[in-house]
Amino acid sequence: MDVTADAARLLSSRRRAIAGRDTLELGEIDAALARIAEGTYGTCEVCGGAIGRDRLRALPEVRRCVGCSVER
Ligand SMILES: [Zn+2]
Repeated sequence: MDVTADAARLLSSRRRAIAGRDTLELGEIDAALARIAEGTYGTCEVCGGAIGRDRLRALPEVRRCVGCSVER
């Protein structure tokens, strides 16, 4: 998967999170950048399935696929 665009969007979101002192969001963004570095970006942390391009485009820092993201 080509993650160049995702990385670019995460980096611009990261600047906004720092400017807004949003540490929770900053943590999520840094975790997503770490997953890109590890090569696990785009993989659901719960079921191990693909999160999907459309979902990542909307929420590049998301950790879970649609099926696993439902709040219980
Ligand atoms: Zn999942």
